[in-house]
Amino acid sequence: MDRRFYGKIVIKGKIKAVTGLHIGSQRDISEIGGIDNPVIKDPHTGLPYIPGSSLKGRLRSLFEILVNSRLGEWREKYPSLANYSPGSCRPDNQENCGKFFNRKINRGWIHVCPDYETALACPVCRLFGASGKESNFPSRIIVRDAFLTKEWEEKWRAGEAITEAKIEVGIDRVTSQANPRTNERVVAGAEFEFEIIYNVENTTHWRDDIKNLLTAMALLEDSYLGGSGSRGYGKVKFIFDSFEFRPLDYYRTGKDEDIVSIDAREKSVSDILSGFDSLFSEVEGKLEAG
Ligand SMILES: [Zn+2]
Ligand SMILES: [Zn+2]
Repeated sequence: MDRRFYGKIVIKGKIKAVTGLHIGSQRDISEIGGIDNPVIKDPHTGLPYIPGSSLKGRLRSLFEILVNSRLGEWREKYPSLANYSPGSCRPDNQENCGKFFNRKINRGWIHVCPDYETALACPVCRLFGASGKESNFPSRIIVRDAFLTKEWEEKWRAGEAITEAKIEVGIDRVTSQANPRTNERVVAGAEFEFEIIYNVENTTHWRDDIKNLLTAMALLEDSYLGGSGSRGYGKVKFIFDSFEFRPLDYYRTGKDEDIVSIDAREKSVSDILSGFDSLFSEVEGKLEAG
C-alpha cells in the first residue's frame, strides 16, 4: 500500500428533481390519517435533503452494472477485472467464487473487491471504495449531503410546499384487497446543492476516475434516485456550477491563485463528458508539472 496525495477536485452544482422524489426516512409506522412513508428530512430545519450516502450508493450500483457489461473490454485498463466473470454469485450462494457481483448484502449481491491491491486496479472500487475482508480501499470520492438551494429554501419560507402527499394504491395479489398508502415526495422542480470531492491520489488515474463518475451521473439521469422509480418518481438532472482543482500547494499556502477553477455553469453531464479534454487541460498541465 502506497497512498499519495496530489490534490482534490471539488465538483459543485445542483440536482434538480425533474419528477417527484422520494428518499425514505426508514420510518414505517403508520399513523392514522398521517403519511405512511415520509421523506428524509434534516432534523435542524425540517427540510428534505438528499443524503450523500443515497446518492453515492445509487451512482455506484449503476456504474457496477456498466462495468459488469464491459468486463472483457476493460481488462487491459483495469487488470482486476480479469479476476471476474460476468454475473452474480447468487447461484451457488457463495461470496467471491469468481463472479463480478460477489458480496452478499441483505437484498442481493453487489460488487466489492476483497483487498486493497485488487481494488486499486478496479474502476468501481478505486472510485467508490471497497471494504474488503482482507484490507480496505478508501473511497476516492466524498459525496456530501445535498440540501435545498437558497432559492428553494426561500420559497419554502414564503409558504410554498416543498413536499406533497401522493396516494398509491397497492393491490394485494392474494386477496385482491386494495391497500392505499400515502407517500410523501419532494415536489418536481425542487433543487438541491450537491458537492462531490475527488481525491487525486495518482496522476494517471484521475482522468478515468472523473469520467467514470460522470458516466455514473449520466446513467442516473436516465434512471432514478430514491424509491418508486418504476412508478415515475426520482428523475433527476445534474446542473454543474464548477470544477475546482485544488493542488497540494493550495493546502499549504491557502492561496486561491493556486486553484484551477473550471467554470461549468449551466453545463450538463453530457456537455462535460463531450468537452472533457479541453475543459480539464489546465488541470492536466498542473498535474504533469508536478
Ligand atoms: Zn459465488
Ligand atoms: Zn472492485
